[in-house]
Amino acid sequence: MDIKKIYMDANALLHGHFKLSSGNHSEYYLQSAKVLEDPGTAKLLADALAKQIRDYGLEIDTVCSPAIGGLIAGFALATALDCRYIFTERVDGKMTLRRGFEVKKGEKILICEDIITTGGSAMEAAAEVERLGADVVGFAALANRGFCRRVGSELERKPNCRLPENRPFFALADFDFPMYSPDECPLCKAGSEAVKPGSRGN
Ligand code: ZN
Repeated sequence: MDIKKIYMDANALLHGHFKLSSGNHSEYYLQSAKVLEDPGTAKLLADALAKQIRDYGLEIDTVCSPAIGGLIAGFALATALDCRYIFTERVDGKMTLRRGFEVKKGEKILICEDIITTGGSAMEAAAEVERLGADVVGFAALANRGFCRRVGSELERKPNCRLPENRPFFALADFDFPMYSPDECPLCKAGSEAVKPGSRGN
């Protein structure tokens, strides 16, 4: 499966000067929602991700996604894995389990995002369900932005990856585009201004 082609065909691989949620700048932005607007594609991707997770032998009770980015990917993955699905959301900046969702002590939870960059939001969701007694057994995303090391990839883990090394991370592809801190961004140096994706109708 050629994930890059799927993103390009859906116009979900944007080119410009973007400020990512991690604070870094990049010439590319992945708009997963554009890929997932086709439920058939969402199912195709989730089925492939679920197969990786089953082949690995990971036992999962529940998939949990941090809203909003991970919602559709997580739901599709939970459907493919035939397991329970919950999500966390930010309340006053803090990732929280709301809406009557509860987790059991020792419940095996897989955290699912659309894209994992450094894994910041995924780790906030993980901390919240662990605080409530669940066990986070792994992480998943449609694609890895190139900082973390996914199961089956040779791409090395970078120091700013925040996912734990002792739990598996599943993704369908590495999107290892260059990313810059604002101080070192060549696009900023060339005089252009970084935009937050979504702020100009994209
Ligand atoms: Zn920049």
